Formats: sequence, structure tokens, C-alpha cells
Amino acid sequence: MFDALAERLESAWKTLRGQDKISESNVQEALREVRRALLEADVNLQVVKDFVAEVQTKALGEEVVAGVRPDQQFIKLVYDELVSVMGETNIPLAEASPAPTVILMAGLQGTGKTTATAKLALHLRKENRSTLLVATDVYRPAAIDQLVTLGKQIEVPVFELGKDADPVEIARQGVERARAEGINTVIIDTAGRLQIDQNMMSELARIKETIQPHETLLVVDAMTGQEAASLTRTFHDQIGITGAILTKMDGDTRGGAALSVRRISGQPIKFIGVGEKVDALQPFYPDRMASRILGMGDVLTLVEKAQEAVDLADAEKMQEKILSAKFDFTDFLKQTRLLKNMGSLGGIMKLIPGMNKLSNEQLQQGETQLKRAESMINSMTPEERKDPDLLAGSPGRRRRIARGAGYAESDVAKLVADFQKMRSLMQQLGQGQLPMPGMFGGG
Ligand code: GDP
Repeated sequence: MFDALAERLESAWKTLRGQDKISESNVQEALREVRRALLEADVNLQVVKDFVAEVQTKALGEEVVAGVRPDQQFIKLVYDELVSVMGETNIPLAEASPAPTVILMAGLQGTGKTTATAKLALHLRKENRSTLLVATDVYRPAAIDQLVTLGKQIEVPVFELGKDADPVEIARQGVERARAEGINTVIIDTAGRLQIDQNMMSELARIKETIQPHETLLVVDAMTGQEAASLTRTFHDQIGITGAILTKMDGDTRGGAALSVRRISGQPIKFIGVGEKVDALQPFYPDRMASRILGMGDVLTLVEKAQEAVDLADAEKMQEKILSAKFDFTDFLKQTRLLKNMGSLGGIMKLIPGMNKLSNEQLQQGETQLKRAESMINSMTPEERKDPDLLAGSPGRRRRIARGAGYAESDVAKLVADFQKMRSLMQQLGQGQLPMPGMFGGG
């Protein structure tokens, strides 16, 4: 369940266990792992360098959060930074008033530009926005036919003037047509080339100048990885984009291009393409992409839950109590509730490296035991909760509690005995005599 990166970070930070803070010297190895992870996810090298420098600065300024290990805290910080760099939230498509909204599609040949044009139209229909598609790629023999076919498939009209017309003129007339017919959005598919080509760029610039689009979307193939960065720079410098669509995210790419595109152009990814079919388009969410780039959703969930559930001062007090063996049934209840806040015991345990080998049966047993203990403790008087020894010496008290909780007297006796054993283990632990014991062992 844990991906290679998580394991590497794990070992990079082993030296940090027992230490309580991220420092200049111990952060270096983890930063190297982040750098490697981003490069593996195909983020551009310069973008990676800037990102790592930023994370380093932030990591050194981090406060310690009780209940969260420094390595986990660090991963969360990296994740937050990724989300932030990619723009935090989904940015929807512009909608112009008065209509039509004009969207210009740009990108190299084969990236999925024509497919994305049709996908967008289908997406907009779900938002009750009518569309007109405009075919301006007069160079590639089958390009116009391809768009017409896609249009038929999704029942959206396609405007074209054949392959002898001037692309700028086709675009201009297409927008006119949409306006005349009261269509909400017009999407203009343009010619791509296999590589950046000055003719293609100047034609795009002329189309843009003529139709003054509300959105100029760069279609980027996620599989191109590192090259996405220079591609974005060229298009943004020469044409000016307002956003991007990252296609072929259904492949085995980690999607690092998303980071490059946003960082270099300052413009958001708005959609991702996740398949060849016309409905395979999804709005882009920075948080989901960040998990994908890091490849470690599990750790993040754990840290987030821990941060929500743990109150710093409370946790410190608890630790003191545990180590000085002043831990009583009330503290035990509190701990149990804390675990519950964090979700089911099984869910939490599975997120902890090494614990995921526990069988479901074992986890369920642990959870049942906790529930039983809780209901018995609820039937105790405040004095009894404070002083488990009261119960050890009084079968009468144990019977009363058993009746109240719906268990046998022997169950209460066992809880008390287990608790006493646990407390004495904790005492020894506090005095440094034992390795960490299993707190709720035995059935
Ligand atoms: P264009 O030259 O940029 O217009 O690219 P096309 O729209 O013709 O797409 C090129 C190829 O990529 C076609 O085979 C598409 O089916 C495929 N394609 C487009 N988008 C996606 C996507 O999101 N996922 C996958 N797997 N294939 C895609």
C-alpha cells in the first residue's frame, strides 16, 4: 500500500525519530527525496529547484505538532505547497456576458486538442451551455472531418468552410455565427504541428487578435513530461494563455506537467483528459493532483486526521501522565475517544507503516475490546475511574459495574487486571526499562 517514495522518506527520516523538530541539518535528506519524487513525476528541473528551496524555508519555520512525527509533518508540508503552487482550487471556465463566450484551443498536433474540443462541448452541455465548434485546421487532411464526426457524435454543430479557406476568416465567421444564433459558447479548434513552428504561432496570434477570445486554453499532453515546461513558456510568451487542459492523464504519468504549466505560466490547469472517449474529461483539482504527484495519499490522510484530533497541550499532559503512571480510567476513556475521532481503529492502523500487516480479524477484535472497555468505564463512579485499585479489591463494585454495562463480573475483573498490568508497564516504560509494549494485548 505504501509507495516507494513513502518508504524512502521513511528511511530518510528515521534519524529524526525521537528528535522533535525539523532542522537545517536533518531536513537535507528528505529534501533530496522530494526532489527525486518530483523529477520522477516529470516536473521540470528548474521548477523542482524552486519548489524545493521554498519547501526548505517553510520546513525550518514549522511548529511541532504533537502526535505527528516530523517526517509525516514534512510530507504534509510538501503536499500543501504542491496544492498551493497549483492554485488551491478548481478554476471554472469563463462565461462571458453577453454571449458567446469564445474559447480558443491551442497546442501541438497529437496532444488531443480536437478531442478536447469535443469533450469541452459535452461538458458545457451538462451545465446547460450550448456550443458551436469551429474547425480551422485546414492543413491536416482529416482534421475537419474528425471534428465534424465528433460533433455528430455528441450532437453539437460544427462550423467549417472547407480546407481552402483562411483559418483566421473561419474563426471570425464562426464567432459571428454563434452570436447570430444565440449560442452560449464557441470553441475554436486550431491547427497543431508536431513541433513549435513559427507559421503556426503567427497564425494562432492572428486568430486570437481577430476574435479576442475569453479563454485561450493550451492543450498539453501529460505524457510529454519535462517538455511541457518549454512548450508552455513558448505558447504563453507568444500567444498568451488563460489556462490549460492536461490530456492523457489516464496513462501512467504522475502528472508533474501540471506543476510546470502552472508555475511557468501562472495560469491554471482547468481540466484533465482521462481517456479517448468524449466524456473522459474532468475538472482539475490541485489537491488530487498533489496526492498523485507524491503518490502517497495514505500518509496525508493520517496526518490530517491527527492534526484535527490532537490538541497539543492535551497530548503533552497525557504523555506525562502515562510516563508517571498516573494514568487512570478517565484518561483511558479520553484516549479511546481520541482514537475514535481519528476514525475507526482499523482505518488508522492500516495507515501506520508496519501495522498494515494486522489482519482484519485482529483489528476488529481490538475495536470490540475498546468498545467493551468503554461501556464498563461508563458504569464506574468517578472515584472508581480514578483509582482502579478500588475495583481490584471489591467484587461487589465489579458486579455492580458488570450489571450496568451488561457484562459478566469476570469481564470487569479482567479489564481491571489488564489496566493494572498496562499501568505498571507504562511505569517501567517511563523509567526507561522496556521497549514499547503492546498496550491492549491478549483477548
Ligand atoms: P490533436 O492532433 O491535438 O487534435 O489530437 P487528437 O484530438 O486527434 O488526439 C490524438 C490522439 O490522442 C487520439 O488518438 C485521441 O484519441 C488520443 N487522446 C486524446 N485525449 C486523450 C486522453 O485524455 N487520453 C487518452 N488515452 N488518449 C487521448
